[in-house]
Amino acid sequence: MKNWEKNIRKVVPYVPGEQPKQKNIIKLNTNENPYPPAPGVREALLHTNTDDLRLYPDPAVTDLVKGIADFYQVDSSQVFVGVGSDDVLAMLFLTFFNSDKPILFPDITYSFYDVWAQMLRIPYEQIPLDERFHIVPSDYKKENGGVVFPNPNAPTGELLPLAEIEKIIRANPDVIVIVDEAYIDFGGESALPLIDKYDNLVVVQTFSKSRSLAGSRIGFAISNPTLIRYLNDVKYSYNSYTMDRITIALGTAAIRDRAYFEETTGKIIKTREWTKEQLKKLGFAFGDSKSNFIFAKHPDVPGPELFEALKAENIFVRHFSRPERINDYLRITIGTDEQMETFIAFLTNYLAERK
Ligand code: PMP
Repeated sequence: MKNWEKNIRKVVPYVPGEQPKQKNIIKLNTNENPYPPAPGVREALLHTNTDDLRLYPDPAVTDLVKGIADFYQVDSSQVFVGVGSDDVLAMLFLTFFNSDKPILFPDITYSFYDVWAQMLRIPYEQIPLDERFHIVPSDYKKENGGVVFPNPNAPTGELLPLAEIEKIIRANPDVIVIVDEAYIDFGGESALPLIDKYDNLVVVQTFSKSRSLAGSRIGFAISNPTLIRYLNDVKYSYNSYTMDRITIALGTAAIRDRAYFEETTGKIIKTREWTKEQLKKLGFAFGDSKSNFIFAKHPDVPGPELFEALKAENIFVRHFSRPERINDYLRITIGTDEQMETFIAFLTNYLAERK
């Protein structure tokens, strides 16, 4: 071992879902939107002046911040933009989780939280979900250095009602509570109305799912101006120009088109409900997902087996082998009607032949 080895910041990295190279696959593994971004995004890209790329982008991302502020009817001083909500969350961890006490998050949740905590040397405690995979708010009433959880939770898709979220916030007035709403636009109730009521609340959302822009990397946080200022101070101390000029233009175009956003999220919700009915007929067990995915298991078929069988048919879903109690589940992203019909048809045949 070299002497410098001991000084290296060693991390076990987050493993993103597979992005297969081959075409003609049904990709239901990373919760992307099956529909293209709003038409205005294409227009914005076509109108890009490449000569402008010699200039640095606006470090304050003013146009996009304004677009988001207008959409959610808050002030621009309440909005922070980052390169995907992963970037926003990493900045939030760095800024607000700076205590010797452990931060709290569920044991089954977005698997990036423990990675950031480990990398940033933030102590953490994972609070078990109940046997139905629900977050129990009273479990978050204990001494801690901060709280973070997704709503709906991932990979379970379970939504915590606003009144329950409020219990968690109210129990934790001395720390920052982050609600990660990556999937809120698929039928959930956002905690945004609570930001005026609680000065320790930060709500995080993304353009990756409901606005079909995973490839552009846009995420944002909304909170009170004081917390947003602290967040920007850390961001500017790290890298001031995180978002490029083209992405700022595309995001600004996307947030303007409310009608398209409502139409596409509405379609996904409809397809999700259809998929639930079909999975139920096939004997699958799953919760009442309010996200753009369903977390399901079959009573007779091990998760890894189904995962491989689907993959052999070029249908990619996500399987998590840990923690142990989710090993038999598959997280299935909602695609187009046609994709979900093919998916269900395959499962129907597979289960019939396996008998
Ligand atoms: N939060 C949750 C709960 C997620 O599932 C994801 C998607 N992997 C993200 C945040 C990050 O999404 P993005 O960086 O694309 O905004």
